[in-house]
This record gives sequence, structure tokens and C-alpha cells, in this order.
Amino acid sequence: MADSEPLSSLDGDPMATEALLWDVFGIIVDEAIQKGTSACEKVCEWKEPEELKELLDLELRSQGESKEQILERCRTVIRYSVKTCHPRFFNQLFSGLDPHSLAGRIITESLNTSQYTYEIAPVFILMEEEVLKKLRALVGWSFGDGVFCPGGSISNMYAMNLARYQRYPDCKQRGLRSLPLLALFTSEECHYSIKKGAAFLGLGTDSVRVVKADERGKMIPEDLERQISLAEAEGAVPFLVSATSGTTVLGAFDPLEAIADVCQRHGLWLHVDAHVVPPALQAAWGGSVLLSQTHRHLLDGIQRANSVAWNPHKFLTAGLQCSALLLQDTSNLLKRCHGSQASYLFQQDKFYDVALDTGDKVVQCGRRVDCLKLWLMWKAQGGQGLEQRVDQAFALARYLVEEIKKREGFELVMEPEFVNVCFWFVPPSLRGKQESPDYSEKLAKVAPVLKERMVKEGSMMIGYQPHGARANFFRMVVVNPMLTQADMDFLLDELERLGQDL
Ligand SMILES: *Cc1c(COP(=O)(O)O)cnc(C)c1O
Repeated sequence: MADSEPLSSLDGDPMATEALLWDVFGIIVDEAIQKGTSACEKVCEWKEPEELKELLDLELRSQGESKEQILERCRTVIRYSVKTCHPRFFNQLFSGLDPHSLAGRIITESLNTSQYTYEIAPVFILMEEEVLKKLRALVGWSFGDGVFCPGGSISNMYAMNLARYQRYPDCKQRGLRSLPLLALFTSEECHYSIKKGAAFLGLGTDSVRVVKADERGKMIPEDLERQISLAEAEGAVPFLVSATSGTTVLGAFDPLEAIADVCQRHGLWLHVDAHVVPPALQAAWGGSVLLSQTHRHLLDGIQRANSVAWNPHKFLTAGLQCSALLLQDTSNLLKRCHGSQASYLFQQDKFYDVALDTGDKVVQCGRRVDCLKLWLMWKAQGGQGLEQRVDQAFALARYLVEEIKKREGFELVMEPEFVNVCFWFVPPSLRGKQESPDYSEKLAKVAPVLKERMVKEGSMMIGYQPHGARANFFRMVVVNPMLTQADMDFLLDELERLGQDL
């Protein structure tokens, strides 16, 4: 096939299909993986939207294009995309690249099946069950249920729906009119998906009662008690508490034992939004690493939860998306709550055990395979390898904290418990001016300016946010397993360089 022929002629041409894909894989390995993980390359190639539209030539036309044009388009897409695997990408709670997980993602994409029946996903039905079993074991459960969801926000939403259904099974058929006014409880540091979920499920955001957190960002159990009484006094029925293990900004851990006590007293469903649960904290992988011993207590009580949402796509570098909802339930609650028994898909007279057709547990029909990337990575690293990564991340976060304390112009927001390191960069003109009335206002302007500079240069990406009364500060998250102390030094050096004239 001549390169100038339109690509549509590939249909039914296995040799050309293979040739194209080898070329595309080559581009992926060179441009997205090698360059994308090289500190010598930019982490992003910033363009204004109008310019980027021009460069991408987005318009879809009636004429197909040649192979060479298509390959060039692949390169262009990669060139202007942010390299989240890059050692200078600190912007999100996910970063870095695990090659085995990527291999799993590529296989998943290539096989393109749906995780609903044993008939069309025999390998992945069995695999998902095994992976979920393993994750449940880390939580401390030898039984239960679960499912991979399209992200942590959806996992949280599922937990709310299950808790509601368990108490009011009628609502599946009769809807909201069968329900009293409900109340759920979470801390002011919770992820915003709790409110979104409440809105989506028809509970309304008003049903989310916000519990106070202490100065470290941990839910205050006494205030939870108070909020429950308050809700009851207002005629609402409390049904769920969502605790967070590793809050999004500060990386705080709610006191699960105390919260579980409150839930037990009031008969409430306890959900733990544990997107950054480092499995090492469970010390379930047999390694005797000091850090895991030190930090294990942060999750004490998690085994008392009714449900746990956990995102291996964050702290474990499993790749987007990989989010598990784990349940202690053994009553088939997931399926009873969401099942609809589509007779064209879930025939009951199949020639194999129809319990293997797990697709009716979810509100989706087609569902991505999210277990393979985690399974393959786990097979390659072993539990011990993953645990080492966790400990390395803790150690590196600790190194960064000590460096921040040593350097002029850097100020910690608080001592971190986890791998979120929150700090201010105080530029030369503001140093020693803490007492001046407009200090906070001026400090708040620093992070956005530095962010613009780093993105436009493509030197690194790190997130910032205001938080309560605190002016904008940077949130560094040490997740990428390839990071070294040199990268931590780079982060601080680069902020100094970018902000020396401020
Ligand atoms: C990231 C995060 C979520 C949301 O997960 P998504 O997969 O992005 O939907 C929920 N809760 C916490 C604590 C998180 O950090």
C-alpha cells in the first residue's frame, strides 16, 4: 500500500494493519514513554487554546488520510499532551509510569471486551474477583463483595446508594417518594465527590452534613455526634458516614476507630474514602519495613467499615482508571441494589455458573476491564515490591520536609502524615514581612504566578490551592516511584529560580 493512499483501505488488510500498529507503538515508546519520562524533556508544551486548535487541525473531514499523515497526527497528539509520567509532574494525586501496568492497559485496550459476562470476559471475571479478594484482605476482610468502578467519585456514589438501599430497599422501585429526609455525614476536608454523589442520587447536597475537622484536617468525632443529633432534631434520618483516609489536600486520616464507634452507636453505614491507602500500612504483605509499622495506626479501624473506596490509580501507579469499591457485605447487596436482569445478556439457563456474570452488580451495561493493569503490576512487583514503593514515597516526602525546613523562603503548612507535602514559597520581597497586614493577600498571588511560569516553560507542574483561611500554597504529592532526592531538590531550586524576582 502506498503511503499516500487513504487509511480506510486498511480494512481487511492484516499486513497493513500490523505495520501501522508497529509504527504507532514505536511512536508511543519513543515520544510518550522515553521522552515523556525523561527529565531532559519538557513536562508540557503549553499553547494557547486557539493556537493549539490550529496545530491539531481538529476538523473531521469526509476524506480519509494517508498512513504518514496519521502517524504525524499521533506524534502531534503526544507532543502537546501533558506527560503525567514525567519526573517533574507533581500536579495530581497520580503520576509516574509502571511499565507492567501499562502493558496491562495496552492488552485491555487491544482485547476490548466488557466486564459483564463470563461468556465474553472469562479471564477478567476470574481475575477481578481475585484482585478484589486481595484488596479486601488488605482491609482486613476474609469475605465480602466489590467491584471496580470508573473512578473514586463513582465508588463513593455507589457506597451512598448501597447504604440507602440497604435501609430502604423499597426505594429501588418506588424512588425518592418512598424515603424520609435523609442525612449523611462527612468532614469539611472530604472529597467534593460526596456532594456530587448526593446531588446525583437525588438526596440533594443539603443532605450532606459537614462535620468539623481539627487543625490537621481530621474529622472530629465529637462534632460528628453533635451533627447527628442536630440532623435528628431537624427530622432527618442519618444513614451514612463517609470518613476519609488520606484527604485530597492535606493527606489527613480521619480517626476511624472513634468514627466507627459513633456509627455503631447510631446504626450508620460507615464508608471509608481511602483513595490513597498505602497497602504497606496494613503490613499485610509480610515485609518488616519500619515505616509501615510506624504508619499502620493511621488506618486502625478500617476493617470496621461497611464499604471502602480505594484508587490504585493514585498511590499505586496502576494507571487511570483503577478504582475499587470494597464491601463487607455477603448478602449480594450490590446485585440486589443495581440488578435489572436483562434477559438478552444475563440468561439464567446458560451452560456455566451464571453467578460468574457479575455485570448486573453495576449501573453500567458495558464496563471497562480495570483489574488487569493492577494484577500484572502486582505479579511483577510482588506485594513486597509495592510495599517498598510506598515506603520509598514516605521517605522521600520526609526528605522534602527536612529540605523545606532548611531553606530560606520555604514554609511548611504543617508536618505531613502522608505523602502530601503542603508548603508556601515566600518570595524575597515578602520574607520577614509576616506581620504586615497585606502579607496573606500578597502571598496568595505568588503560587498562581509561579504556576504560570513553570507551565509556560514546561519545567514542572505542581498544584496549589487556598485552604480555609490559608492563602494559596503548593501541594507536593510524592507518588511517582521513579522520584529521587535530586527531584525533590529540583522542585525547590526551580521554585526559587522562578520566584527570585517576586
Ligand atoms: C481523588 C479522590 C477521589 C476521586 O477519585 P476519582 O477517581 O478522581 O473520581 C475521591 N476521594 C479522595 C479522597 C480522593 O483523593
